[in-house]
Amino acid sequence: MAENVIIIGSGPAGWSAAIYAARAELRPLLFEGAITEQNRLQGTLPLGQLALTTEVENYAGFPAGDLAPFLQSAIEAERLAYMNVHEGKHAVTGPELMELMRQQAANFGTRIVTDDVVEVDLGRRPFVVRTLEGNTHEAHALIVATGARANYLGLPSEDAFKNRGVSACAVCDGALPRFRNKPLFVVGGGDSAVEEATYLTKYASMVHLVHRRDKLRASMIMQERALNNPKIHIEWNQALAEVLGNDKEGVTGVRLASTSGGADRELAASGVFLAIGHTPNTAFLNRQVELTEKGYIRWTMPHRTATSVEGVFAAGDVADDYYRQAITSSGTGCMAALDAERWLATQGVH
Ligand code: NAP
Repeated sequence: MAENVIIIGSGPAGWSAAIYAARAELRPLLFEGAITEQNRLQGTLPLGQLALTTEVENYAGFPAGDLAPFLQSAIEAERLAYMNVHEGKHAVTGPELMELMRQQAANFGTRIVTDDVVEVDLGRRPFVVRTLEGNTHEAHALIVATGARANYLGLPSEDAFKNRGVSACAVCDGALPRFRNKPLFVVGGGDSAVEEATYLTKYASMVHLVHRRDKLRASMIMQERALNNPKIHIEWNQALAEVLGNDKEGVTGVRLASTSGGADRELAASGVFLAIGHTPNTAFLNRQVELTEKGYIRWTMPHRTATSVEGVFAAGDVADDYYRQAITSSGTGCMAALDAERWLATQGVH
């Protein structure tokens, strides 16, 4: 029997869609992704990008406080056992927030499968979904909430210090104590890099913007912002060659290589932020859904989550290269569930 709705993805968009779909008695089936080495390396393990961050201070409803008793009362003991619940009174962490959302979706009857969707057939009704483990499922509606992954350079040293000074999200991590009053490096020359560098000047002693060319890609207004900020120093024609550090302190410096000839330089740093773009996780769709020029799923109706294929809805970062926040992803996840429910009703399915 075909499912009413299959949700693909386990970030805030996927869980919020599941909570709403489950409460609408659609009995959603959600694929949270597989736990594989490939997913670990590319940052696409279950629970999404938030599971790769530390404190989340800007998700409404989670102020700083002693959350440990709440987490212990809210989440299944079995999952808590390996969850590393934080101590102290700082805000909820990304992994905790995602476990809470997952639990909330499970509480309302969402069926959760720890597997990747590797292929879909949207040319047939009901839609067909195939998984990494080789299983096939059918669904009348699909909600795609597979998110995006930050691009990294692929340096082994960069991988070794992820979450210990290497980050791809200044807004998520910039305010952490380890970055305060220390030199920081941002890699990239686009609007994101300038925005991240500007944001980080609030905390850093100096922000070095490392760009591989002698001209920024960022818009004029953003370029001026960077050039006029006394706390931003642009490292023109430079590439990040290596992140330096040790087990105890995490990142302690960088080695920069010139892209225009010249010797490598080693400079002190407590953090390195990559801002070289994101890649939406859409490969499994095999272009059966219309994408934007940047490769994100195109929402085809204003203020709705409908896509170019009737019955397929998209939510969260896979369709949003602009806001990219946990709370906006949750919002569009909710919208996708409501859109799917209403569409299924018009089809006489539910
Ligand atoms: P982007 O515009 O694609 O810029 C990526 C930057 O990273 C480029 O400067 C590129 O260098 C550099 N880069 C890419 N791969 C690299 C590599 N392997 N090694 C070194 N450098 C590398 O991406 P984005 O800045 O994330 O912006 C994405 C979109 O969002 C843009 O349309 C942007 O305008 C928009 N955005 C807008 C705002 C705003 O208006 N406030 C803020 C953020 C983002 P090259 O220049 O040499 O190619």
